[in-house]
Amino acid sequence: MTNDSIQKLFRSEIASMSPYTPGEQPQTGKAIKLNTNENPYPPSPRVIDAIHQATSKLERYPDPLGTSFRRAAGDVLGVDPEMILCGNGSDDCLTVLTRAFVGDGQKLRLPYPSYILYRTLAELQSAQFEEVAFDKNFGLSERFYGNDESLKLIYLPNPNSPSGTLLDHDSILRLADSVDCPVVVDEAYVDFAPTNCISLIQQNPKIIITRTLSKSYALAGLRFGYLVAHPEIVQTLRKVKDSYNTDMLSLAGATAAISDQAWLENNVARIIATRSRMLLALRNLGFDVIESHANFLWCTRTDRPLKPLYESLKKNGILIRYMNYPGWSDGLRISVGSDEQIDAMLVVLRDLLAS
Ligand SMILES: *Cc1c(COP(=O)(O)O)cnc(C)c1O
Repeated sequence: MTNDSIQKLFRSEIASMSPYTPGEQPQTGKAIKLNTNENPYPPSPRVIDAIHQATSKLERYPDPLGTSFRRAAGDVLGVDPEMILCGNGSDDCLTVLTRAFVGDGQKLRLPYPSYILYRTLAELQSAQFEEVAFDKNFGLSERFYGNDESLKLIYLPNPNSPSGTLLDHDSILRLADSVDCPVVVDEAYVDFAPTNCISLIQQNPKIIITRTLSKSYALAGLRFGYLVAHPEIVQTLRKVKDSYNTDMLSLAGATAAISDQAWLENNVARIIATRSRMLLALRNLGFDVIESHANFLWCTRTDRPLKPLYESLKKNGILIRYMNYPGWSDGLRISVGSDEQIDAMLVVLRDLLAS
């Protein structure tokens, strides 16, 4: 068979779509990685202990509903555990949501520029998506509000990626009131921000929150996320998820991680302190940097091309993300690493800009 005839075996949407490409993960440990918003610090040591203990029961299936995690998270968030659904990373939660709410040919509304994975999920579902540009300051433009017959789901990362900007509660409530479909607030970065939207679920049960342990809890390698929603929504979403979508080791690790809030707070405080320092340093180097409530900064400038800077940093062993959003702008998204990593990056960047 030729490759062409192999492609014809697939659904046409799959054959023609471009794959979602995450930031690169070099296989040697040398690079300074500031490209995928990982945490530069280790997770709570209790996570490692809990995973060790859980290895004694690997012949069993895990709890399909992740009850121990949901109890611990319910305590931390002040919500009923019946409002929580666990996922294999929050990307799994986003997959479950897209499959549950959006059918063939129906529509999602997405902000632009934003997290590219939402588009991929729409394409996998043979769904339509409309991308509505943010206003200049990354607020919701008027076009973002309002219902439409075929509209079945809205994704709103908050804080947004790549900008790190935060929408206020009023905009999100007004949006949820203006449509008939669920509004998913993707709070992957919310632990680095001053506010979150959990309390809005009481005011409008169409609001669904997704969270991840990948960023603030320093557990990107573990793969654990969860969503918080009205109990009726959670109950029905259980029909859509894989029965055992979170494994025994990640459930044990995630439960220990969310139970150690002191570790989280200390970790987040360090990153926020580095973020402030890094913001000033990058502005001093001539970048336009918007105030961020996440663990990365979005840097633009018009006086020189950005892609060569990204490429030269890479040659120097420093990985950041170059992103180009047609019709918007391109930019560099730089994760907030440790102080040493950021200082090393700034030294190289200063040299590159001087040459
Ligand atoms: C990182 C990220 C996620 C997904 O995180 P997981 O590792 O799958 O839990 C979801 N949304 C946004 C906006 C992200 O940046």
